[in-house]
Amino acid sequence: MVFIKALEEKILKEGKVLPGNVLKVDGFLNHRIDVGFIMEMGKEISEIYKNEPVNKILTIESSGIAIAFAAATYMNVPVVFAKKNKSSNISDNLYSSPVTSFTHKNTYDAVVSKDFLGKDDRVIIVDDFLARGNALNGLIDIVNQAGAELLGCAIAIEKGFQNGGDALREQGVRVESLALIESMTEDSLTFRR
Ligand code: 5GP
Repeated sequence: MVFIKALEEKILKEGKVLPGNVLKVDGFLNHRIDVGFIMEMGKEISEIYKNEPVNKILTIESSGIAIAFAAATYMNVPVVFAKKNKSSNISDNLYSSPVTSFTHKNTYDAVVSKDFLGKDDRVIIVDDFLARGNALNGLIDIVNQAGAELLGCAIAIEKGFQNGGDALREQGVRVESLALIESMTEDSLTFRR
């Protein structure tokens, strides 16, 4: 609770809302990394999933990696990050799922080597933002292709008004967001509690 309050305050103080419903938090997460703060974020995620038998964290490059690394430090598990592959040259040894980027409006393939994810894995997926849910759906698809078990997702900032999180919850996926934005405009931002 203390960390969540601190995250909300940091978003209010440092976040900038850009046209197209994009929240910029480059000062601590997407460009400069506030290492102490992101470690606290990782600790919070490890607390949320402490009763689950997680043995791997899956994320996607690039901004998910720092958060996943921080959580993994406390959970003592490895991190695998999906790469964003722009060529259609997919090898046999990769799981792959198409994702339409919310911020860049292009489509890429999220790819993960079959060497690093398999049926013995019990996974949480970690990412920085959740908007329409395209990135998470791609990662969930990859977990399913691998025959691994999905225990849940942990997101730093969910934009609740873009509905990706609720759609996944309705499908029975556990989605835990540290900050959940209810509404945002250039001069006001509210959280769902
Ligand atoms: P979704 O796939 O859920 O529509 O969007 C999530 C992905 O898009 C995240 O991996 C994140 O990189 C990016 N994203 C979506 N919304 C925002 C935003 O408001 N700010 C930033 N910085 N990234 C976002």
